[in-house]
Amino acid sequence: MVGVVIAVLVLGFIGWQFIFFARKKKAQKMSNKPFPTEWRDILDDEISFYTRLTAEEKTRFERSMLEFLDDIKITGVSTQVEDIDRVMVAAAAIIPVFRLGVSKYPNLTEVLIYPNAFSRDHQVEGHGRNIAGMVGTGYMNGTMILSKQSLRGGFRSARDGQNTAIHEFVHLIDGWDGAIDGIPDVLIDQPAVTPWMILVQDKTKEIFKKRSDIDPYGATSQTEFLAVVSEYFFENPERMKKKHPELYKALEEAFIKH
Ligand SMILES: [Zn+2]
Repeated sequence: MVGVVIAVLVLGFIGWQFIFFARKKKAQKMSNKPFPTEWRDILDDEISFYTRLTAEEKTRFERSMLEFLDDIKITGVSTQVEDIDRVMVAAAAIIPVFRLGVSKYPNLTEVLIYPNAFSRDHQVEGHGRNIAGMVGTGYMNGTMILSKQSLRGGFRSARDGQNTAIHEFVHLIDGWDGAIDGIPDVLIDQPAVTPWMILVQDKTKEIFKKRSDIDPYGATSQTEFLAVVSEYFFENPERMKKKHPELYKALEEAFIKH
């Protein structure tokens, strides 16, 4: 009898150890692993922001991507998530916060990848599908949806100033202070708020007068303005510096020198 009890205890202990180590293995952080060579090839080929970094900065960028991916689930909905999608989502997350030395998004848990544009009620088929990306609210809080087509297209036409994924991550950064209002505390200090608002008004007027190369969607609200000009800033800083020197300076102050 004692023998049976001991055998049961020993088996139980072995089983517990097995579960414990299996869990530990699963929980092993991505950021502790070396950066995959295939991912580096994708960065070299597709992410122009990365190609402009120094060797030291590239290592930091890669580490930040892995840290970001430790916490965030990327799930395909009616589509397969490939390495290129994972790399592009993580790159879009890190680009706007790279100079701020941040790699975590406390208000995000999952990124859903839809094959193409989707509708307001998240349908991927049928009419009225014109949304390329969105940050979830209400029951969708903590979720971002991106169309695979826009995610890839945003990086592949790198100089056109449009990048849906960067746009959505800027909305998340905007929300870190509790309000998605186009004036994120982490980017714009209190004394810089009024000059920024004046700049937003001036640039919005130019868009309405059709005297601007800024995407007209930026004129819909100051929240969208920030996201839209951030895409432009990270995709084509040279053109923005030439065409909108004041705006360039303000964004450089927010994202780079802050
Ligand atoms: Zn937006």
